[in-house]
Amino acid sequence: MSVITVLDPHVADLIAAGEVVERPASAAKELIENAVDAGASAVTVEIAHGGMTFLRVTDDGGGIPADQLKTAFLRHATSKLHSARDLEAIGTLGFRGEALAAICAVSRMEVLTCTADAPLGASLTVEGGVFGQVEEAGCPQGTTMVVRDLFYNTPARQKFLKKDAAEGAAVFAVVQKAALSHPEVSFHFIRDGKQELMTPGDGQLKSAVYAVLGRELALGLRPVQSAGEEMTVTGFVSMPACCRASRSWQFFFVNGRPVKSPLMTAAVEQAYQNQKMVGKFPGCVLHLDIRRSAVDVNVHPAKSEVKFGSERQVFSAVYHAVLSALEADRSRPQVELKP
Ligand code: ADP
Ligand code: MG
Repeated sequence: MSVITVLDPHVADLIAAGEVVERPASAAKELIENAVDAGASAVTVEIAHGGMTFLRVTDDGGGIPADQLKTAFLRHATSKLHSARDLEAIGTLGFRGEALAAICAVSRMEVLTCTADAPLGASLTVEGGVFGQVEEAGCPQGTTMVVRDLFYNTPARQKFLKKDAAEGAAVFAVVQKAALSHPEVSFHFIRDGKQELMTPGDGQLKSAVYAVLGRELALGLRPVQSAGEEMTVTGFVSMPACCRASRSWQFFFVNGRPVKSPLMTAAVEQAYQNQKMVGKFPGCVLHLDIRRSAVDVNVHPAKSEVKFGSERQVFSAVYHAVLSALEADRSRPQVELKP
């Protein structure tokens, strides 16, 4: 047996980074979450080569004070969580203080940021976890994060990246989900110099759905609105006639966070069980807003899974909300759908 030793911090950082940053899309997700947590009203995501050589996220949020800029890139450094008690009711998208540390360990990063009360902004580069100097820089309020050459120093991970188109599509999907989860923020997505998405940021879920899913899919949706004491379910579901052959346009959000939820999927599909839809799946954009302490978002480093205190209640709330939307639709006078 070889001797047991504690890993060198740099190696530990690389291992931890692997859990948080799997591909360009996961880096994009973390940077977008930071922008939304910073109160941005507009977020622009730009990529080249599927985000592998270049990923830039620009926001007009609160910015990072120059004297805290280096700290933001340290592991377990966060402004969103201060005590163990805070973990019981998380109100921000981020809270683990891991993302910037993870991304900068496996890429060449640059940040440019300015807060409202600072006369000048600040810039910093971090390459493979090695910090440059914080310098003064002129820039508008907000933050720009640039990530270049993701995994340049971890060839094992780089090997598993897919082609530009597939990685770019995954980043696009992340931006789409972010736009559907935050209709109050205007999202722009630019791939290889071409703008592919722009949402108005007018606070209306309907406008975001229209911009993200397109007119044809949006026309086949019906509103869901149900408020209970414990939770509310709002959003849209597809009319049975507009269901599709895959689940690829089922979007679930819990307290503004995109999640994968087999439970919510099952609840939606159960509501359609009396409809004849062999081999077809409903589409939906559903927001569940629930008391913070009734849901645990700290289940996985990527934060895309949640655990509910009462699965039965969530299932029932989603099921009944969707059922009433379908019933309301059936009692509407039937009009022919124009494409
Ligand atoms: P977390 O989001 O879990 O706190 P991160 O590593 O993603 O951890 O970010 C560390 C800290 O850096 C955040 O808590 C926040 O204070 C600051 N930060 C990161 N990105 C931004 C941004 N775009 N605007 C303002 N502050 C930011
Ligand atoms: Mg974060």
